[in-house]
Amino acid sequence: MAEERSYLKQFTDLGLAEAILRAVSAEGYTTPTPIQADVIPAMLAGHDVLGTAQTGTGKTAAFVLPLLNQIAARGTPPRPKTATALIMSPTRELASQIADNIRIYGQFMRVSVALVVGGARAMPQIRALSRGVDIIVATPGRLLDHASSGAVRLDHTNIVVLDEADHMLDLGFMPAIREILQMVAKPRQTVMLSATMPKQIRNLAREFQKDPVQISAGSDSPAISRIAQSVVQTDNASKRHVLTTLLSAPEVGRAIVFTRTKRCADTVHLHLQNAGLSAGAIHGDKSQGERSNALASFKSGRTSILVATDIAARGIDVDDISHVFNYELPDAAEAYVHRIGRTARAGRSGIAISLCAPSERNLLRGIERLIGTPIERHAGSFGQAANFDEPRRVARR
Ligand code: AMP
Repeated sequence: MAEERSYLKQFTDLGLAEAILRAVSAEGYTTPTPIQADVIPAMLAGHDVLGTAQTGTGKTAAFVLPLLNQIAARGTPPRPKTATALIMSPTRELASQIADNIRIYGQFMRVSVALVVGGARAMPQIRALSRGVDIIVATPGRLLDHASSGAVRLDHTNIVVLDEADHMLDLGFMPAIREILQMVAKPRQTVMLSATMPKQIRNLAREFQKDPVQISAGSDSPAISRIAQSVVQTDNASKRHVLTTLLSAPEVGRAIVFTRTKRCADTVHLHLQNAGLSAGAIHGDKSQGERSNALASFKSGRTSILVATDIAARGIDVDDISHVFNYELPDAAEAYVHRIGRTARAGRSGIAISLCAPSERNLLRGIERLIGTPIERHAGSFGQAANFDEPRRVARR
């Protein structure tokens, strides 16, 4: 339904300011994605929004464009130590990408943005906040620190966006989010976007939103239908070799390799480097500088493989990822959907290959239940990767 509606609308039909339309057109966007066609008019009309949206659906522009529109219409600069709008996101990487997007979509207007995230020095953030800003993009913990110390007050903030609310819940940010929402001005516009809608997010919406417009884009994930998914059944001891074999295939362009733990990410990264492949790694134990460098090298094409944990990779906005490899299956089935959504972005197709050891078969079944279809098992078409399971079973008999 949403898909059909979006084709009827052009960006120019949505009521956005000229400066924003110019930026959208400079980015090469012609038609709004379904979530944009739904969220932009709802936000422009001043409604609260509760949306189910996966990464890759164009959700960032869906909330950033109307937010910029409101800032362009306002015209008065924010008072010192205040902010007009607040966007909260689960990770530094995602927050920094949102801030980048605001600068791109706001390039033809005056807009000030402060990035307030953990793992970066507090002083420059405090200085930026002291002048007053149009938009704060923040991870909840660091923002709460600044709000508690008086570096910023949120009682003039009347637009709040929670992006990837379910992931913030997983990371334990709910108490901080509640405290922050209590500090924010009333009345206000509150937008919550989440890949999944667990009970806690619905409760949060009930508590902090007023009659929200409910929007669902991608709960049955149109992106997933464009991803060729498969499983290579193997065992833990063989995984490294299987992975290098798969990564060496000529059709692999830009690939992300997911691991469950930071330690495993380091081991796999080292193994790939030793195998002569150009790879970087990001995870929570890397410094902000290391993560930024690894991401920049990957984006620019200096490295073609990025090894990542789930948390570090959330929201990474890199187009043209041809393959996602799950070196280990994630504990939570939803994370699988997020992982494979790194490919097939912006209408493209992609390939997702999961290495599954016998101990991970339960996880695989959980994933298949969630996505509602079995994933094809491979035997034979990946060279060495194919037959690990069989000979070992035979040997045990
Ligand atoms: P997101 O879901 O916000 O991470 O966006 C996914 C990708 O889609 C990003 O690379 C955006 O630049 C791109 N994108 C967003 N909106 C549009 C649009 N209307 N047309 C084409 N590409 C878009």
